[in-house]
Amino acid sequence: CGVFGVIGVSDAANFVALGLHALQHRGQEAGGIVTYDPEAGFSEARRFGYVRDTFTSQKVMETLPGSIGIGHVRYSTAGSKGATQIRDVQPFFGQFSMGGAAIAHNGNIVNADELRKELIDRGSIFQSSSDSECIIHLMARSLQRNIPERMKDGLRRVEGAFSIVAMTRTKLIGCRDALGVRPLVIGKLGEGYVLSSETCALDIIGAELIREVAPGEMVVITDKGIESSKPFEQKRPRFCIFEHVYFSRPDSIIGGRSVYETRRQIGVELAKEAPVDADLVCPVPDSGTPAAIGYSQESGIPYAMGIIRNQYMGRTFIEPSEQIRNMGVRLKLNVNRALIKGKRVILVDDSVVRGTTSRKIKEMILDAGAAEVHFRIASPPTEWPCFYGVDTPERSKLLAATMTPDEMCSYLGVDSLKFISLDGLYRAVGEAKGRDPAKPAYCDACFSGEYPVTPTDQIAKGFEL
Ligand code: SF4
Ligand code: MG
Repeated sequence: CGVFGVIGVSDAANFVALGLHALQHRGQEAGGIVTYDPEAGFSEARRFGYVRDTFTSQKVMETLPGSIGIGHVRYSTAGSKGATQIRDVQPFFGQFSMGGAAIAHNGNIVNADELRKELIDRGSIFQSSSDSECIIHLMARSLQRNIPERMKDGLRRVEGAFSIVAMTRTKLIGCRDALGVRPLVIGKLGEGYVLSSETCALDIIGAELIREVAPGEMVVITDKGIESSKPFEQKRPRFCIFEHVYFSRPDSIIGGRSVYETRRQIGVELAKEAPVDADLVCPVPDSGTPAAIGYSQESGIPYAMGIIRNQYMGRTFIEPSEQIRNMGVRLKLNVNRALIKGKRVILVDDSVVRGTTSRKIKEMILDAGAAEVHFRIASPPTEWPCFYGVDTPERSKLLAATMTPDEMCSYLGVDSLKFISLDGLYRAVGEAKGRDPAKPAYCDACFSGEYPVTPTDQIAKGFEL
């Protein structure tokens, strides 16, 4: 998901809509905006679909007055069951004795089932099926006198990943879990301030990056400035390494590093680790593009657009149903036949999850008359599900959980298939010595199976580490 908030600007909702539009790659199912205006009170709008289709009409935007606002773009992950209902769409709103508050959450709470059960037993009435709603109910039970303190109280009971943007009538609040699994940055916009999942959404509104919200930090922004606290037990940060590989936009800056440059560097590492003689290096667009550029630069094999992407399709993976996902590849990607015919082609993609994309692409590219197809993947084999906010299927559906890379190669029917090593990936994100097994600098659970936060609910459901 993507979260965004702004304070101290007129017509906040317009900035929130623009910010969410720049974060659309983080969630495409639905979006929501909440604003506050002293005369109108809190206003809310939630819609299915793309921000550009839902939060652009004057009719909707007029209903969201105020100089403070937050928003959320949703993609449903591990916790959620069934199709998204409009009541699952964030931000969630709660009315407390000291006033209202709205919160937007990116990440996934790993003990949400446990918390929900406990809260329901004690009288909470849940509106949605979302794990994030627990936070509002925990806040409601807190005896603290103000909303940031209630949030701290509530979040101390929450295990898992959270990057949160919240608001009251006068405060914009940002908060990250102790490991800092998901991103969150602070920006300055004229006299006002912005919170955003990624820096690309600061660029779109002309805001300036101040810094990241630190892992385990809460910032409370008012017209008097930023107040920072560290309410949680401090831990060694474990940012999601997959944000660098796939999830974030390449024009974002994370931890001072350009995501594009990291991905290009992954391609350089891949070319060193897994060279092969061929005529062309082609990305599986768009997610494989920077790594393909790096592979081509390092290997000296020309870069070319062997697969053309239809710009009017979203991210295939994020379409939740299997059937749509199967169709999706053809709707989204087509082979550039004239270029491919008779060529030995290296295809670079960011990841193999179920193998749906790679299988279809291989078929399409052989149909087009390629002489050889070599897959190079910009992440290690995805052997484990993510429980921290990225939607991976259960273990049995992960190709790499049931097959070795060689078996995957013959299953996919390609001439070769190589994944970057975990050490190579760490080098590309700036860890010169590779991965330190004693204290890895990132979360890499989907590749290593080492979960930095025990997935409590999943284990209760029979998941085995
Ligand atoms: Fe990121 Fe993978 Fe960790 Fe999930 S399991 S947070 S996708 S590195
Ligand atoms: Mg892709």
